[in-house]
Amino acid sequence: MRIAIVGAGIGGCSLALCLHDAGFRDVDLYESAPEFRELGVGINVLPHAARELTELGLGDRLDAVAVRTAELSYHNRFGQQVWFEQRGLAAGYRWPQWSVHRGHLLGVLANAVLVRLGEQRLHFGERVTPGSLGDIDADIVVGADGVHSALRALVVPNEGPPLWNGVTMWRGVTVAPPFLGGRRMLMAGRLSRRVILYPLQDLPDGQQLVNWVVAVRTDDGRPMPSQDWSAATSTDEAIAETEGIDLEFVDIRELIAGCETVLKYPMADREPINTWRSGRVTLLGDAAHPMQPNGSNGAAQAIIDARVLTRELTRFEHTVDPLTALDTYEAERIGATRAVVLANRTAGPERILDIVADRSAGRFERLEDVVPTSELEEIVEAYRRTAGFDPDVLNGRDSLASRRANR
Ligand SMILES: Cc1cc2nc3c(=O)[nH]c(=O)nc-3n(C[C@H](O)[C@H](O)[C@H](O)COP(=O)(O)OP(=O)(O)OC[C@H]3O[C@@H](n4cnc5c(N)ncnc54)[C@H](O)[C@@H]3O)c2cc1C
Repeated sequence: MRIAIVGAGIGGCSLALCLHDAGFRDVDLYESAPEFRELGVGINVLPHAARELTELGLGDRLDAVAVRTAELSYHNRFGQQVWFEQRGLAAGYRWPQWSVHRGHLLGVLANAVLVRLGEQRLHFGERVTPGSLGDIDADIVVGADGVHSALRALVVPNEGPPLWNGVTMWRGVTVAPPFLGGRRMLMAGRLSRRVILYPLQDLPDGQQLVNWVVAVRTDDGRPMPSQDWSAATSTDEAIAETEGIDLEFVDIRELIAGCETVLKYPMADREPINTWRSGRVTLLGDAAHPMQPNGSNGAAQAIIDARVLTRELTRFEHTVDPLTALDTYEAERIGATRAVVLANRTAGPERILDIVADRSAGRFERLEDVVPTSELEEIVEAYRRTAGFDPDVLNGRDSLASRRANR
């Protein structure tokens, strides 16, 4: 079976590695960029996706460039803690949560693609469109071409740009001393103005590369920022947006001031759709289900898509209609990812920030007087179930890995 993957991002590279692992050898990747560029800032690989990457033999390489995040906390704008949980191995998962620079994650995946598939399988500078699809000699084509997917037009013509939710994100990475033990992801403020911090990498001098995001509702007359992953702006602009948020354990304004490049991007997604398939073409990752980054699930869902699609291709490869695999893949993933897209629109577990802020005027004495812990636990657990990383379910289920039948 000849398989073409359009887009060598996190989803496309993951799919290439899953297919190779299962025994498929006739796999080509078409990437519009002229080469791999380590663009972006931080990204989280939650345990459900970390399991897949570990089973693909990439665990050690990711450990070398990432941080194993062990804790997550939410705070109000005064820094008072409103939620705390352990993450990854510390939370009882059999796999870690990796916080990593997107460029480093892509670097690990892309290197493995080059080594395992061979560089002749990677075709750079190839922008594939519905019009040029006829030039691709393959039985199956997978559109893993991201949030601005060209191939998505096959199933949703004239869709227009992604939908902005009114929030702008200023993001960057800064070298800084560890805060709160150096394994903590935290969010502070409320949904209309919050900061998100997490370390991405331990540096030899004891410092860390820290990812920061300032996310602010700006649809009060201000225009939507450009939907360009590399659009940059000044540190002063990002610092001004942190007004009113003060954390005693880390100086966020100093952190932002120490950053070299501030990226500015709108928080956006697209309406979930009813099919991803058009003939021999299907979609995967952001091309299929772009989601708001609340809940840190974009990369994870793309990686799970890759595993499930591979498993279905191994099941149906030698049947009368191998394209059935595209339908069974879609049947398993389209509803599951729709649920995550919708949960992220209500901010996923991060809506805890607003629940606490709405019920407390300023600082509080005792959190239990503001909101029962059980209410917050239910929100967090419901999101884990929706996004597929409930620890008992994940630890207990069989691997998604598959092997091609020998014929
Ligand atoms: C440059 C960039 C920076 C990002 N930065 C961050 C970040 O800092 N934090 C974060 O959480 N998420 C970031 N993301 C998004 C994140 O990587 C994705 O949400 C997630 O990993 C899903 O991956 P994906 O493979 O579906 O899409 P993507 O990672 O977006 O990959 C899509 C790939 O397809 C290629 N492509 C697009 N159109 C075509 C075409 N017509 N023909 C051929 N190739 C095409 C793109 O160049 C890209 O390599 C970034 C994405 C990009 C492209």
